[in-house]
Amino acid sequence: CGIVGYVGSQQVAPILLDGLSKLEYRGYDSAGVAVYTGEQLEVVKAKGRLEILRDMLDGGRNLKGTIGIGHTRWATHGQPSDVNSHPHISSSGRFAIVHNGIIENYMQLKNRLMEKGFAFASETDSEVIAQLIEYYYNGDILDTVVMLQNSLEGSYALGILCLDHPDEIIAMRKDSPLIVGLGEGENFIASDIPAILSYTRDIYHLEEKEIVVMRADEVKVYDTSKELVDKEVFHVDWDV
Ligand code: GLU
Repeated sequence: CGIVGYVGSQQVAPILLDGLSKLEYRGYDSAGVAVYTGEQLEVVKAKGRLEILRDMLDGGRNLKGTIGIGHTRWATHGQPSDVNSHPHISSSGRFAIVHNGIIENYMQLKNRLMEKGFAFASETDSEVIAQLIEYYYNGDILDTVVMLQNSLEGSYALGILCLDHPDEIIAMRKDSPLIVGLGEGENFIASDIPAILSYTRDIYHLEEKEIVVMRADEVKVYDTSKELVDKEVFHVDWDV
């Protein structure tokens, strides 16, 4: 339902909690974050109010890192539960993803992946995305997400972390909203502008299937042919 992502030099967990709180008005049943802690992609998530997650994280203080993704879930496939909450991690722990939307062909993809030995932890349609990236991964992240997009049917806004590129957030969307927020030495993704409005007013709108590769000091946007797209900065001049 709601997505926030941050890469920069500040502690990320409080920023994710703050961003998610700005998206609470949309409704949700669970919340979670994934942060690169310097060693691994660590996920903290729980069914219920954002306050529960905030307490688990001690307001963000006990999960250290400067890059991460957060999610509030409105369950469509798989009941609200801790394990069905996002982010979802691939079997090897290499990828963490947050997803808004519905993957229509997830059953078919899940069955194929299970035949190849992938173990699923949740009942969600979204987890198939984490496992499928892992399956396609060939060292080239752009290549990998193009293959991913070619396989997914349905709607998605996606934020992705990869342990091999711990300074990057990968993001993309199809039939579900996602924007990029442009800061000074820090950048954001969000499913809706209010999530990041207290940090920046300069944003990129994303076209269908455009691929964002975002670091603290640069944001690159590619089309599905892996060509760089020249994006126009949109300045938000309204308040919430
Ligand atoms: N379909 C996904 C799920 O049920 C994502 C729902 C959402 O957009 O929050 O986990």
